[in-house]
Amino acid sequence: MKTCTIHGPKALEIEDRPIPKPGASELVIRLGAGGICGSDLHYYHEGAVGDFRLKKPFILGHEVAGEVVEIGAKVESLKLGQRVAVNPTRACLRCSECLSGRSNLCRDVFFYGSASRVPHMDGGFAEYFIATERQCLPIPEAMDFRLAACAEPLAVTGHAALRAGSLVGKRVLITGAGPIGALLAATCRFSGATEVVVTDLLDEPLKTAEKMGATETVNVSHVENTLTKEGQKNVFDVAFEASGNLKALESCILVTRVGGKIVQVGSLPPGSSTAPLNKIMAKEIDLLGSFRFADEYRWAVDVLSRGWIDVTPMLTKTFPLSEAVLAFELASDRRRAMKVSLVTG
Ligand SMILES: [Zn+2]
Ligand SMILES: [Zn+2]
Repeated sequence: MKTCTIHGPKALEIEDRPIPKPGASELVIRLGAGGICGSDLHYYHEGAVGDFRLKKPFILGHEVAGEVVEIGAKVESLKLGQRVAVNPTRACLRCSECLSGRSNLCRDVFFYGSASRVPHMDGGFAEYFIATERQCLPIPEAMDFRLAACAEPLAVTGHAALRAGSLVGKRVLITGAGPIGALLAATCRFSGATEVVVTDLLDEPLKTAEKMGATETVNVSHVENTLTKEGQKNVFDVAFEASGNLKALESCILVTRVGGKIVQVGSLPPGSSTAPLNKIMAKEIDLLGSFRFADEYRWAVDVLSRGWIDVTPMLTKTFPLSEAVLAFELASDRRRAMKVSLVTG
């Protein structure tokens, strides 16, 4: 079978591997669609994402959905031919974080297509891949696999929104209009925010953010539009930093109101960063981290299945696995692409 394997920076190869065999509690999934994520792109361009560095080749991909084609002997809840969204997380469900409901912080987690542990865990950009019963959530017969694959990034934004607490009636700022920023806009609207301002350095992704629920967008590359000009300070109840850009975090600190909250969702550059942290103290801002997701994956599959959140405006283009390099190149161009999907073929 074809796999999309990363060997190092700019070394993405369509590698042939044997079709995997399921263990007793496992299933084999035939890829329906996989979404290329910012972290896949970081592995593709830099061989690392944040502080996780590639040490050996592995199969990329963690935003995946597909069809059950083989079932282990002990699997009870799923049948052959079932269409599923696949949660890329395998938490241990035994450590203190798992037991306290924070399985996203599991100390013994396996996550598809991630170099966060050694050996790295293969992801789902392959014609066939293994999933456990617990990872698979059924989706409706008619649902587009590309939409189902968006459950993963949507779960990331659901978790970030949960970290912020109630958003009902809130004024929200989102820095970064990539897929996470755009999905955050949708999630914040869904969660009752009345004002959702999204910033970016490019107009094209901001247009998509508008279609996804932003009430206002600001291109912060134009000096006259900079958010931190007088009058825009201290106005937002909640700021979500979704660009991974330190300057954006700095803006968040300046424009969040006294007593407000900032949720850091983006991966900042590796190592230590500097920011005007005394303002966190003086303004009593709650600075919150948000890492992956826990039960929000189920929520994400549910709202996508019901069509309550529509992610079609962000789907850019679909490529067969065999053209993964072209797909990754297009996905890297933020002017032309938001979410690029891979399908079997
Ligand atoms: Zn992702
Ligand atoms: Zn655990």
